[in-house]
Amino acid sequence: MILDRLGRPIRDLRISVTDRCNFRCTYCMPKEVFGSDYIFLPRAELLSFEEIARLARLFAVHGVQKIRLTGGEPLLRRDLEHLVAMLRAIDGIHDIALTTNGSLLARKAQSLKDAGLDRVTVSLDSLDDTTFGAMNDVSFPVQRVLDGIAAAAAVGLSPVKINMVVKRGQNEGDVLTMAEHFRGTGHIVRFIEFMDVGQTNGWRMDHVVTAQEIIRTIGDVHPLAEIPPAYPGEVADRWRYEDGAGEIGVIASVTRPFCGACSRARLSADGKLYTCLFGATGHDLRAPLRSGATDDEIAAQLRAIWGHRIDRYSELRSEESPDLPRVEMSYIGG
Ligand code: SAM
Ligand code: SF4
Ligand code: SF4
Repeated sequence: MILDRLGRPIRDLRISVTDRCNFRCTYCMPKEVFGSDYIFLPRAELLSFEEIARLARLFAVHGVQKIRLTGGEPLLRRDLEHLVAMLRAIDGIHDIALTTNGSLLARKAQSLKDAGLDRVTVSLDSLDDTTFGAMNDVSFPVQRVLDGIAAAAAVGLSPVKINMVVKRGQNEGDVLTMAEHFRGTGHIVRFIEFMDVGQTNGWRMDHVVTAQEIIRTIGDVHPLAEIPPAYPGEVADRWRYEDGAGEIGVIASVTRPFCGACSRARLSADGKLYTCLFGATGHDLRAPLRSGATDDEIAAQLRAIWGHRIDRYSELRSEESPDLPRVEMSYIGG
């Protein structure tokens, strides 16, 4: 096990398998920036599944137990289930999850489950087609995402978590509807404060609907009680309905930062390791992979990178509002 300079172990690896997406969520890949002339990573620059699995094995040796596949839209990467099966075979990896916009999930849920995927998180920002279409900005219909969620639950990729980014002026009026739709289904909605990731989404503090406001909106109608985290370093604050209809989460990365227990590393689709979601620069692991470095040499790099880590961007942002260059979320994965 390795610890960073603030004593945090590395437990959780998020792997972006593509920087491409079929949505243009305004808070993530705004069309004005990610337009038809935007140049995505060429295929040769993406890590192959073999390269990803080799790195994942080395991470597992150093304490990583959980892997989350993300992007971009991870289900755009062809044969993703092959990667899932390769990761499943690694000793020490106890949990493999996927974050997806759900657009291709109905088709792929069964093969992902068969390959060994444990869980999915599906992003869905509204149940109203007009609001959702404006947020995904490609007019993608709500029903097809709901079909994906149903398919995931049917094959046992559960409990399904549903991520809703709440942005003032766009969908804050849908918080209660979303909570009520999924109450009693066993699915867990997680309301996410709109974050200042990347440099293109025009983030402003007054667009943030705070976790406190979200909990009040739901709790006024359906009383809620806070419950302890399921494991140390969990990002969502958990709340349960007092009448037993299940639980929800809120991810308050803006108003209640959780860097203190942050054990997450992120690997971009082209093999750069980021030790913080708000990192400006990554550490290139593809170059050593492709120039014949041994496992021991790459492992030594991992230890050095994590051992030097001091990231706590969200806490610093709250303390002193730095305006630092930041990498885009669609590139390193949410
Ligand atoms: N395309 C997949 C999806 O949307 O689920 C996976 C990648 S996406 C970058 C991962 C998560 O990050 C999604 O739940 C998305 O809603 C969230 N996200 C993206 N930009 C965000 C922002 N500015 N603030 C908060 N969450 C954001
Ligand atoms: Fe695509 Fe996910 Fe970003 Fe939306 S949040 S643009 S679905 S990567
Ligand atoms: Fe972890 Fe960086 Fe997020 Fe803090 S800001 S919780 S260190 S990823």
